[in-house]
Amino acid sequence: MCRPKPPEDSTPEEEARVQNRQAAFLRKNDFRRIGHTRFFGYSPNPEHPSRLLQAEGDADRPENKFVPTNPVPADRDDFMRTYPLHFAIIHLPKQNVASVIDAYHTQDPCSIHKQDHNGFTPLYVAAASANAPALKALLELGAASDLNNHVNKDGMVPLERLEDTMRTTRELAELLMHKWEGYSRNELKVQLILKREMGISVNGQTDEEYLQKRKWGCTCGECVQGWLSPRMRFRLETEAALSKDNMTVLAPQFRRGQPLSEDNPGLCLPLQFDYLPLHLRQKVYKTFYNGYVTIFENLYLLLDETEVVPSVPHLRTLCKGDRDVNFYLKKGGKFEYALESMVEGAKSQSCLGDSMFEEIWESEDDTDDEYRKLPRCANDLEFDLVKRMIGVPLKGPVLPPEMLSAAVDSERGPSSLTLKMLVDMISGVYEDEEDEEEEENYSDLLNPHYAELAAGRKQARSEARRAAAAEAYAKSQAGGSSAPGPDLAFQKLLSFLPEGGVRAPIN
Ligand SMILES: [Zn+2]
Repeated sequence: MCRPKPPEDSTPEEEARVQNRQAAFLRKNDFRRIGHTRFFGYSPNPEHPSRLLQAEGDADRPENKFVPTNPVPADRDDFMRTYPLHFAIIHLPKQNVASVIDAYHTQDPCSIHKQDHNGFTPLYVAAASANAPALKALLELGAASDLNNHVNKDGMVPLERLEDTMRTTRELAELLMHKWEGYSRNELKVQLILKREMGISVNGQTDEEYLQKRKWGCTCGECVQGWLSPRMRFRLETEAALSKDNMTVLAPQFRRGQPLSEDNPGLCLPLQFDYLPLHLRQKVYKTFYNGYVTIFENLYLLLDETEVVPSVPHLRTLCKGDRDVNFYLKKGGKFEYALESMVEGAKSQSCLGDSMFEEIWESEDDTDDEYRKLPRCANDLEFDLVKRMIGVPLKGPVLPPEMLSAAVDSERGPSSLTLKMLVDMISGVYEDEEDEEEEENYSDLLNPHYAELAAGRKQARSEARRAAAAEAYAKSQAGGSSAPGPDLAFQKLLSFLPEGGVRAPIN
């Protein structure tokens, strides 16, 4: 269970008091906090390891809490001076970071462990911002002892923080843009380095295998193309079988040449027709109906082969020359309708819906363990990912990709900056739905010239950034103290040090 949120208007002190009372009550009744999350879990099994944990051991008890001791920087300059490694990891071009880390380490070997005002170590910041060169440099110099340090504002170790950021970015991209390009090689590389250092098994995979298999979030190593997991395939196959059987049962209500419509009393169009546009449901001919059924039959056949993924081109090949399917297509039917119906049907019966599927296939009493013996994967319930990959368009408002990538590209410190910026954008964008000009911009982003437009804007942005850096440089030369550009920041960071060995930037 998640800890209830205190009333909106309560002060932080009241909030803390209420939450401590709730937590104490849960602990007294053998609930234990799950890691550093907001959740408490309870096992009815008295032998379960969680039941053997002392209530005092829970992570957010006052004595286990992070108490900030290091100063909060007043401004960017102060941040640079007080926490130079943190600054370098977040703001410098990646090829310069190792030199800075090295230089500071030479002066003071403890610098690589120094925590900032949030309790974040340089290693933590390197993980959070998926900065592989920084991470490697820190580990080479002996920062591995910080890998398991979770005493900080987030209450997480570096790996947890990285994975949290990866998930958040993914969820937001999916939610706001209906598009996610997979985890980046950078993120995965950093994840792999951290896992190896922490002694977490990666099943003997080579670096390249790991990066390829994990791109779409697969954790079982058996997903076809890295995204269709064996359990997901089983769900879809079951759904396709159910659909074709259901539809075949209802077929006799049709008479050739006599269309039926939704308005006909006594007519029962199966659920699968919900995914067809209204005008196609208003007059359904027997041949059209049979064509749709045939597509489900072929979907079922397709899913029975474990190495292929369902897709429109595959279906087209399988259905080629079928008279009923041709009629269905000629009248405006599409393969996508069947694909969407299958995924949505499977989702509605999963634990994200009514759990009917789990009741049937996960029951221990059932002797048929065909489903249960399949490996588990993080992709087992990623229905939206499946939809996107098989070519079913997702519905709902979409945030222009430019805005999301701008947010993600921007300073990725270990705060929830990305999240906050996106939320701000969304509230700003969608509060004012009447704004026609905004609307126009969106449709403009969807047109085929989008790539060109985006490239133009990107160039304009980088030109603006260069201009700002030049201005900052001019100012700093004139004795001003505004934000320096990356190269300048690199020089400046090193200038804080007394004479010391600085190694050449890595290319
Ligand atoms: Zn998998």
